[in-house]
Amino acid sequence: MKTLADLTFDNCFARLGDAFSTEVLPEPIDEPRLVVASPAAMALLDLDPDEAEQPVFAEIFAGHKLWESAEPRAMVYSGHQFGSYNPRLGDGRGLLLGEVVNDAGEHWDLHLKGAGQTPYSRMGDGRAVLRSSIREFLASEALHALGIPSSRALCVVGSSTPVWREKKESAAMVLRMAPSHVRFGHFEYFYYTKQEEQLKTLGEHVLKSHFPQCLEQPEPYLAMFREVLERNAEMIAYWQAYGFCHGVMNTDNMSILGITFDYGPFAFLDDFDARFICNHSDDAGRYSFSNQVPIAHWNLSALAQALTPFISVDALRDTLNLFLPLYQAHYLALMRKRLGLYDEHEHDEKLIERLLQLMQTSAVDYTRFFRELGDSAAADALKRLREDFVDLAGFDEWVTDYLARCGDLDPAERRARMHAVNPKYILRNYLAQQAIEAAEKGDYSEVRLLHAVLSKPFEDQPGMERFAERPPEWGKHLEISCSS
Ligand code: AMP
Ligand code: MG
Repeated sequence: MKTLADLTFDNCFARLGDAFSTEVLPEPIDEPRLVVASPAAMALLDLDPDEAEQPVFAEIFAGHKLWESAEPRAMVYSGHQFGSYNPRLGDGRGLLLGEVVNDAGEHWDLHLKGAGQTPYSRMGDGRAVLRSSIREFLASEALHALGIPSSRALCVVGSSTPVWREKKESAAMVLRMAPSHVRFGHFEYFYYTKQEEQLKTLGEHVLKSHFPQCLEQPEPYLAMFREVLERNAEMIAYWQAYGFCHGVMNTDNMSILGITFDYGPFAFLDDFDARFICNHSDDAGRYSFSNQVPIAHWNLSALAQALTPFISVDALRDTLNLFLPLYQAHYLALMRKRLGLYDEHEHDEKLIERLLQLMQTSAVDYTRFFRELGDSAAADALKRLREDFVDLAGFDEWVTDYLARCGDLDPAERRARMHAVNPKYILRNYLAQQAIEAAEKGDYSEVRLLHAVLSKPFEDQPGMERFAERPPEWGKHLEISCSS
């Protein structure tokens, strides 16, 4: 176990030079206080969990102190926002502090979000507010615990520094971790500014650091693009299977590693609704729940465009055509498991679609349905769940077909297998909201408790049942501010 002082840095991205990032020191926030830390994320750096309690921990992650071997830099990128190209996007408020190498030899980017202005801040103040920092922290760690690929979060540090959004709020910083912070928008930036040499340098860096196996292939860039596409197909399948709505799938928010990245007005579905829009600025529903699949495909084609100097258009097109079938295969595999089906059947897709349609018309709670389905033997569980549906004839027909598909697994075995993939606890917006409201008054106990509960989403946790309840009516219609 290490202390903060023991961390070893190897800042590969910083070494790419000034065309890729600019040296900027964090601008400290006042009277730093630790809001919450993730012991699981600390373990990735081999850090002793007690380190979070040391005053120096909050001081470092509030920008007051820095390791000598850190090299804080603001990365430059662009990207497509709501379908339109924006030539200069960021990073307007995040600094890559450096890359820590852990005992296993893994590189973890330490990225401080809300660290003050950078040359890319445009009109922004470079800050992040407490509420959005808590949301990013909780979501990163909760998605990871669900098995959904995501960036991680080490901690949130709050402060007394005022920040103006719709009203006066307080500044906070979240320390994000990922093996890489390279986004689709990094490639787009060098492509659209016609910096071909730098585009190549970036590609080689990403290949060497993150896709070394592709270097063995006859066409490394094509192999890398295929891998990025496969990872994204899998990530989106997880989102759709677990009811996660990202909200701002701009290409600058898409990670080259295929991990969920840059959390804003995200939401998990409460009642199932394929048309759900969690981002209140998204009037046209571009990033609605069901649109996430075609939008991911669209984003990959934007990345493909930026790779045209290295890969033939035909090869890119052929690879892009693999997205939907790959997504569909991952999605079906996840949904079969969620339903407790352990073999494949040609009509499974239809069976799942019919269920979702029934859930949609009856506004059935998406997470609770699957959890309860695994609680007891299928027929018994469905007898209880029937009460939640309006179209009873349709539901009964579906039940007949579903039961015909279920094998004769021992009920205890079925329960264990289904509960291992169907969470009891998810990050519902209203739970985050309640924890944020307490934190804004200086009480961090609810954020910490919620984080602890969500770190074991599949386990029954006696005494924590209130976190698994259906949301109250007000909790389903929260307008999460997009300003952050
Ligand atoms: P987001 O919607 O949070 O992904 O932000 C889009 C871009 O705007 C990112 O590159 C951010 O760095 C930048 N940005 C967002 N908020 C601020 C802010 N308060 N100050 C400066 N830049 C910001
Ligand atoms: Mg972003």
